[in-house]
Amino acid sequence: MSQSLHFAVFGHPIAHSLSPQIHQAFARQFGIALDYRAIDAAPDDFADAVKGFFSDGDSCGANVTLPHKSAAFALADEHTQAATRAGTANVLTRLANGRLSAHNTDGGALVRDLTYRHDLDLRGHDTLLLGAGGAARAVAWALFEAGVQTLTIVNRSPEAADALADMIGEPARVHTRYWEDLAGIGSFDLIVNATSAGTLGQSLSLPFSLVGSRATCYDLGYGKSAFGFLAWARAAGARYAYDGLGMLVEQAADAFELWHGKRPDTEPVYQALRTQGS
Ligand code: NDP
Repeated sequence: MSQSLHFAVFGHPIAHSLSPQIHQAFARQFGIALDYRAIDAAPDDFADAVKGFFSDGDSCGANVTLPHKSAAFALADEHTQAATRAGTANVLTRLANGRLSAHNTDGGALVRDLTYRHDLDLRGHDTLLLGAGGAARAVAWALFEAGVQTLTIVNRSPEAADALADMIGEPARVHTRYWEDLAGIGSFDLIVNATSAGTLGQSLSLPFSLVGSRATCYDLGYGKSAFGFLAWARAAGARYAYDGLGMLVEQAADAFELWHGKRPDTEPVYQALRTQGS
């Protein structure tokens, strides 16, 4: 791909984003000289910033992070099934006809991180999903399709959990419970924290009884934001406790492949980020 093609990540704030570093590392694997910028856009400026970026004929694609994923979905002309199910987009791509396509790579990225990097066979797992926001919606569908035995969705605002379960529409496998009832709902093989509590500097009050004897606990956050949940998981006796750094690298790989038609090797990039303490 020509070095004059432009890519970006939009967020607010954006300085902390690892996306430029990840995409540059992928590009080096293929000898691509990549123009990938981090663009800080406040919510009121997001739509204009995206339009401005894509008005340049060399701009091909953009990643989107907090707090713009719903706005990115809303301003796109076309939506993949994954984006429609999540109601959010983390990837915008300009199609050959000039239209903007919205995609969401979060769900597939989590499943790939769990199954390939962490060698977990999800089939037969009784799974608890904490949260029902954009990431949780993407993750719920992906876990369901990856064959978890049951999926119990618990969200602080119960109506969002109910709406997600209704959308999946498999009441025999997918149900909701109230947050206040967590102490009485038994134990799980897989617990996925898809709330933004850690990112917001808030802690979750979770009973140890949720953690089954072979449980894997996974926080979509990484770095400091995952510390609290992972400490709880270890104290509760989880067999494995993982943060979302691997998911971050995998979702970036999906975007990279979509734009460049080449699948990067994620492992060296993941290991490099781990080594640098991300
Ligand atoms: P949203 O804002 O869409 O959703 C936030 C969710 O967290 C809602 O379910 C909300 O509940 C819940 N929540 C927030 N604070 C609390 C709290 N104090 N107690 C209980 N629940 C709470 O965010 P996203 O879904 O986009 O992101 C969720 C997290 O996942 C973020 O930390 C984000 O950084 C991370 N993420 C990581 C990715 C990766 O690649 N590793 C990719 C995508 C996201 P309510 O509905 O009641 O408000």
